[in-house]
Amino acid sequence: MEVQPEILINNFQLGVLLSGLDRKFFCFIIKNNVFCSQCKNFAIDGVDVDRAYLTKTNDVRVFGRCKRCNSEVIRLFEFGNDKEFRDKANRLRESIKEQTLLGV
Ligand SMILES: [Zn+2]
Repeated sequence: MEVQPEILINNFQLGVLLSGLDRKFFCFIIKNNVFCSQCKNFAIDGVDVDRAYLTKTNDVRVFGRCKRCNSEVIRLFEFGNDKEFRDKANRLRESIKEQTLLGV
């Protein structure tokens, strides 16, 4: 399989990638199920998402802040196992490349 670079994606691009059940799953995890090492528990007030990356295996890695203690939290979403998601991710990579070429 072709090795692809890890890229920073903005909220809009993340929204394009996440549809249907993936989006529900993502929102559920962000609200309830990200571990905070400072609280030594799941971030029960949820997290604010700072930035997200599309990894080289087409997973999504999110950096955010625990809403309770403001510590940085990181969560990996293993969407890359899903072919439909991978296809979407690869289309997004293509469109980003094209925009770069166009200088947009
Ligand atoms: Zn915390």
